[in-house]
Amino acid sequence: MAGPLKTIALLGATGSIGGSTLDVVARHPDRFRIGALSANGRVDELLALCERFRPDTAVVADEAAWPALRDGLAARRLPTRALAGAAALDEIAADPANDTVVAAIVGAAGMASTLAAARAGKRILLANKESVVLAGDLLLQAARAGGATLLPVDSEHNAIFQCLPADGGRQGVRRLLLTASGGPFRGRRREQLAEVTPEQACAHPNWSMGRKISVDSATLMNKGLEVIEARHLFGLPPERIEVVVHPQSVIHSLVDYIDGSVLAQLGNPDMRTALAYGLAWPERIDSGVAPLDLAALARFDFEQPDLDAFPCLGLAWRAMAAGGSAPAVLNAANEVAVSAFLQGRLGFLGIPALIQACLDAHPGGPADSLGDLLEVDAATRRAAGALLAGMDRR
Ligand code: NAD
Ligand code: MG
Repeated sequence: MAGPLKTIALLGATGSIGGSTLDVVARHPDRFRIGALSANGRVDELLALCERFRPDTAVVADEAAWPALRDGLAARRLPTRALAGAAALDEIAADPANDTVVAAIVGAAGMASTLAAARAGKRILLANKESVVLAGDLLLQAARAGGATLLPVDSEHNAIFQCLPADGGRQGVRRLLLTASGGPFRGRRREQLAEVTPEQACAHPNWSMGRKISVDSATLMNKGLEVIEARHLFGLPPERIEVVVHPQSVIHSLVDYIDGSVLAQLGNPDMRTALAYGLAWPERIDSGVAPLDLAALARFDFEQPDLDAFPCLGLAWRAMAAGGSAPAVLNAANEVAVSAFLQGRLGFLGIPALIQACLDAHPGGPADSLGDLLEVDAATRRAAGALLAGMDRR
C-alpha cells in the first residue's frame, strides 16, 4: 500500500531534473500529486505542465512573465493560481499544503527557496547543489531547526546515502569515494582544451543534463562542488573524501569501511533512480529505469582525475580547505564564468582562470550569516564581471 498521498512542490519544473521528477511522479498517481510547479521564464512549457499535472499553484521567477502565465491558465480554464517572483518561490517551498519539495533550480538562484523549505520542515529532494556550496552550514542548521529531511538526489550523494549505515550514523566509515565520469574531454591535455565549444562541452557521454551542470561536468567543477556538498551533507572532513574517475558512470559512488568492505550503489546513468528513491524513501518504487545489464557493459574502468587539465577540481578543494566564505566565492565566480562561456564571451580555459582570480582576490570571511554570504556572492559576481571585461576571449 502506498500510504497517504504526498503533495509535491517542484521548483525548476521545466529543467532536466524537473522533467525526470515528473516522469517518476506520473508513474505513481496513487502516491504523489503535484501541488506547485515553478519555472524561470518559459511560460509555454510551464503551461503545458500545468495542463497535464493540474497543480494548485504555478510560479514564474521572472515577474515579467506573470501576465502570460495568468492569461494562459485562464485560456486553458485551469484553476491553478499564478504567482511570480522570488518571494513566490519561497511561498510554495514553505506552503503547508505541500509536504515534499524538489529543489531543482539551477545555481544560487535556488538558495532562498531551498532554505525556506528547510525552515518549514519539508522532505527536501536536494538537487540544487549550489545552495549547499554557498551556505551548507546554514542550510543544515535550518533543516535541523525546522525538522526537515534532506534527501540528496545528486546521483553520487544519493549513492552514498544508500551505502551509509542505515541508522544514519557514521560508525566504521573510513572514506567516501565519489565517482566522476571525467566528462566529454577526459583524456585531453590542457592545451587541447583551448578551442572547445559550448556544444562540445554540453555533449556529455553518459548523462543528459542542463547546460550549466554539463559545462561543470566538462571542467570537473561539478565534482568540486560535489565534494563540498558531500562534506556538508555527510559531515566528514575533506581528507576522508576522495574522487575517482569512472568513465562508465554506472558506479554512482562508494563508501569505504574500516573492515575493508566497500559498498557501492550501481545503476544505469539516469536521474530517475535517485529521484524515485527520494520520492518514496524509505520505500522503493518503479522509476522507469531499465535494469542494469552487466554483461553488456563488460567492464568498469577507474583512473585519477587530471588536475592539470582540469584545475577547477583543485580550486574547489582549495576553497573547501579555506572554508568560511571561500566556497561562496568559488560558486559565484563559476556561475559567471560558465554563463560567459556558454555565451561565447570566454574560452574554456578562461573558466578556471576567472575563478582562480576571484579566489586570489578574496580576503576570506565567515560563513555564519546568510546576509554576509549573499553579499560575498553579489560582490564576487561584480568582481568577476569586471575581470571578464578585461579578459582575452580565451
Ligand atoms: P536545467 O537548466 O535543466 O533546469 C533549471 C531549472 O531552474 C529550470 O526549470 C529553470 O526554469 C529554473 N531556473 C533557472 N534559473 C532560475 C532562476 N534564476 N530563478 C528561478 N528558477 C530558475 O538544470 P538541471 O540540469 O535540471 O539542474 C538543476 C539542478 O540540479 C542544478 O543545481 C544541478 O547542479 C542539479 N543536478 C542536476 C543533475 C542533472 O542530471 N541534470 C544531476 C545532479 C544535480
Ligand atoms: Mg552528480
